[in-house]
Amino acid sequence: MSNQYKRILLKLSGESLMGEKQYGIDEKRVNEYATQIKEIAEMGIEIGIVIGGGNIFRGLSGTTQGVDRVKGDQMGMLATVINSLALSSALEKVGQKARVFTAINMFPIGEHYSKWKAIEAMQRGEIAIISCGTGNPFFTTDTGSALRGIEIEADVMLKGTRVDGIYTADPEKDPTAVKFDKISYDEIYTRGLKVMDLTATTLCKENHLPIIVFDMDTVGNLKKVMSGENIGTLVY
Ligand code: UDP
Repeated sequence: MSNQYKRILLKLSGESLMGEKQYGIDEKRVNEYATQIKEIAEMGIEIGIVIGGGNIFRGLSGTTQGVDRVKGDQMGMLATVINSLALSSALEKVGQKARVFTAINMFPIGEHYSKWKAIEAMQRGEIAIISCGTGNPFFTTDTGSALRGIEIEADVMLKGTRVDGIYTADPEKDPTAVKFDKISYDEIYTRGLKVMDLTATTLCKENHLPIIVFDMDTVGNLKKVMSGENIGTLVY
């Protein structure tokens, strides 16, 4: 077992919480995530989590239906809170303590986020689930997770997706796509790869936060990544 990572920031997309469903939260998937997360918490790793909201609402898609962008983004941020509560509940159910933080004050739904409160929670062995993305419209939860990862001084940001890493092209569309074992931040730009939005990638680059993109939907993979197995793509 490698002790490479003492503290991590795990980003889960809202869409991945849908599992097989078309909308909302798939309990089976959330429970699988909770079990995987508990497993690595038991390895002594401190864990911060940022969840997206795309399974419920995205501000940008709302604008096509006439929703004001700022209000739409606020709806999206609230969606991340719903997902965070669902995951914290699933974690508690498997016996793993967790605490929900919100970038926007909405006590008692969660605690108003601060770097120090989140770190204290992680040091007590609780999972810090940090919701609302950055707390601002016009951002994404990828950027929120880059920001929180840097703030909480995580050693790495893990981006759990349904694909097992970064490819030269979308492997779900292009069968000739080849996977990278590792790739530099700059190469993501120059190749125009859609790994995360550029704001998030830039934040990680400027603050030297490495990213591992891996398939979180295969049960056991999170532990493999934490044990140093080379199953995803490292962005450095
Ligand atoms: N959002 C926002 N500011 C943030 C993070 C998220 O306004 O800092 C809103 C935005 O509308 C976004 C939605 O929340 O579309 C859900 O987040 P995201 O699209 O990143 O979720 P994911 O794709 O990871 O499920």
